[in-house]
This record gives sequence, C-alpha cells and structure tokens, in this order.
Amino acid sequence: MAINEQHKDHLNYEELAKLQEEKLQKAVRYACTSSPFYKSLFEQDGISPENIKNRDDFARIPFTTKNDLREAYPYGMAAVPLEKILRIHASSGTTGKPIVAGYTRYDLDCWANAVARICAMAGATQKDIAQVSFGYGLFTGGFGLHYGLERLGATVVPFSSGNTDRQLSLMKDFQTTILVSTPSFALYMAEAAADLGYDPKGFNLKLGLFGGEPCSKAMREDIEEKWGLSATINYGLTEVIGPGIAGECPAKAGMHILEDAYHPEIIDPDTGRVLPDGSTGELVLTPLFKEGFPVLRYRTCDITRLVGEKCACGRTIRRMDYITGRSDDMIIIKGVNVFPSQVEEVLAGFREVSPHYRLVLHKKKGSIKDLEVQVELIPEGFTDRYRELEALEGRIRQSLRSILSMGPRVTLMEPKSLERTTGKAKRIVEKEE
Ligand code: ADP
Ligand code: ZN
Repeated sequence: MAINEQHKDHLNYEELAKLQEEKLQKAVRYACTSSPFYKSLFEQDGISPENIKNRDDFARIPFTTKNDLREAYPYGMAAVPLEKILRIHASSGTTGKPIVAGYTRYDLDCWANAVARICAMAGATQKDIAQVSFGYGLFTGGFGLHYGLERLGATVVPFSSGNTDRQLSLMKDFQTTILVSTPSFALYMAEAAADLGYDPKGFNLKLGLFGGEPCSKAMREDIEEKWGLSATINYGLTEVIGPGIAGECPAKAGMHILEDAYHPEIIDPDTGRVLPDGSTGELVLTPLFKEGFPVLRYRTCDITRLVGEKCACGRTIRRMDYITGRSDDMIIIKGVNVFPSQVEEVLAGFREVSPHYRLVLHKKKGSIKDLEVQVELIPEGFTDRYRELEALEGRIRQSLRSILSMGPRVTLMEPKSLERTTGKAKRIVEKEE
C-alpha cells in the first residue's frame, strides 16, 4: 500500500497544490466540526471554515502551540470518542506535563504508510533486516518505525533501546542490515562494539535510519566511517504524528516532506508572518489526514528552511533543511543567542576532541551567569601535559568566541567520561550555584 503512494513524491506543482488545497479544506472542516478545541478557537476568532479556500486563507488560522497541547492534557485535543482511539503516545515533555497524542485505526494506517515511504526513500527494501533501537513505549520512535518498516515488507527486529552488549551480539548474528536509532546511540554503539573487541565494519549494516535529534555533518561522517554504512536522517514529532514526516533520499540534501500528507509553513517566530521558501524560521506543520487528535498550524519550535528547488533524485515534494536547533533549546546568555548546534560545529573543527560534549549553564538565582562547554578528548588526544591541554582549551574558546560572539569556558574531559545515552543526547545541563 505504501509503495502505491510513492507516485505522490513526483506530482507536478499544480497537481500537488490542488491536492494540498483539497486536503487542507477537508482538514479544517473536520477539525472545526469534530474537535471541541478547534470549534471554540474558530468561534472565538470569528473564522468560518467555508472561508478557508486556499493556502492564503489558511494563514489566517491561529497557530496551535506546545502550550495549547499541554493545557489540553490528557484528552482535550480528541476529535473522536475515546473508544475509537487504538493507541496513545506522549512526548517526553522535559518540562511540566507531557503532550498526549491519540491514534485511530485510520491514523495508524496512514502513519505506517508515511513511515514506509520515508524508509523506502532512504533506500530500505523488503530484503532488509532492520533493528529498531528506538525505545518502544510512549515515545513514537519505536512503534512508528516498527510498523512503517513492516508495512514496507522489511524484517523487523524490535529490540528497543538499552542493553547494548546484547544489541550488538544479535545484530551480528542476525546479519542486520539497517540500524534504526538516534544518531547519538548509533555512535555510542560503535564505541561499545570496539570496546567489546568487535570491528564495527565487520557487521552487515548498510543503512542507518536516524532521527529524533539533530545530527551534524561531522557526527554523520563519524557514524558512517565507524560502521561503514550510509547514514540517512529523518524527522518527525509526536504532536503532528511521530516519525514519518520528512526524510532523506539518496541525494542527502535535506529531507523531503511528504507534502500530500502534511502542509509545511515557515514563519518568523517573533511576528508569526509566513516566510517564502528559502528563508530560515520556525517550521509550522499541519497533518492533512489526522482523525484522532487533529492539529492545525502546529508550531514545532524547530528552526529550518524549506527548499523549493527540484532535487537531484527527481522528487517534486519540497525538502526541509536540517534542523539547526529547537527555539526552546536556544540559550540566551549575556544577550547573545546560542544554539548547541553552533557549538557542535566549532568542536567538529578540532580533531583532538570527540563528538561527545555538553553545555553546562551555571545559574545563580535562576539566571544564567556563565556557559561552560565540556568536551571529551579522543583517546589518542589524551595527554597529561597540562600546557598542551590548556593551549587547546584556549584555541577552542577562541573559535567559539568568533562564531558565538561570546567566549564560553571550555573544559576538556577525559575520554568516555560524559554520560552516554540510549535515546536522545542531553546537551544542556543546568547547575545552580
Ligand atoms: P520530545 O519533544 O519529547 O523530544 P518527540 O520525540 O516528539 O518528543 O521529539 C520531536 C522533536 O525531536 C522535534 O520537534 C525535533 O526537535 C527533534 N527531532 C526529531 N527529528 C529530528 C531530526 N532529524 N533533526 C533534528 N531534530 C529532530
Ligand atoms: Zn531527493
């Protein structure tokens, strides 16, 4: 079924625009009539769904935010009676209440199709054996990729996260060809494999389906080099559906958004104005098929841009650029905006350090006083010569200063001293003084 939908990747501009407008109108009418949340939102704003005819009209609908979904906890966003909901997922919600998403049978079916398309686009086939090392549970990653890969016809090994030694031995015995995980876990597994005396290249892995967190160019190269596989990146979020929103084709020049299933917009996060293709801003997404917990114009907090030019692969659906950071991950220190990804990029320029780093925010009475960048040395770069280390710290600090316009404190750490993760890496740590 998923394969039948792949022609939608190649619709011409007019066909796609027509399809999108039809689906948008339908999604708006559906939300307005079935979801008490949207019914009251439209009433308050005096908008009638009949007046939303094209993409310009659509831009008059108010945004839905993370906060709206938090306040709707647990079932406030439901548009169907609960007996029609077959599955519930929730995002981890680092602060406050989690965000809940409920799926009807139709939602689960569309979701599996979407994930299957993303996996096929990355190069997965029914001949593959895929180990899903995303957590199975409330997190959408595990189940999302599981059903998508099954829909594609691949063989799925539902390992879930953790228990790295066993993951590795099964991966070897099963001749697994695809690894599904966060990029940081893929890197950690390569490290663990080497520690256990395996040569990661001696495994049968050919393709990585990585997502859930940013992956810098340096990190991707590192993973590819260590495992000898081709790493692809895909994007999604629980509030919209989960994984299966956008993913890379073999050209690896951004992630194609399944535009027949999601309507993407880029807005200026300060004014809410919709920006043209190519401008960087906050990604706003509207899923066009959702029945259980529909959302319209959801502000993802993810910063990116839309790429309109035709891709080398021939697909016509637009791409989104790699996420440089979440707007809620942005640190404002001494009046300067800092994203972890900027720090990561600078660190990647130093061969003496590893991709394992974190930002420590030193706080006093709740406000940030100082930023410390902790980064591990690679084992070969480890020396007890104090002078050398001090000089390296100085050079890293200097480079950070030229990119960030502020010079954070830099601390070199011993190899493998920072905590490893089996899921998403936690790059920011707060310390109250
Ligand atoms: P949580 O908010 O608890 O992490 P989700 O699992 O729904 O819950 O995470 C979705 C978020 O993960 C996205 O909004 C985005 O910030 C991040 N993310 C997902 N895929 C990618 C990716 N390929 N690159 C960068 N960030 C990603
Ligand atoms: Zn492409």
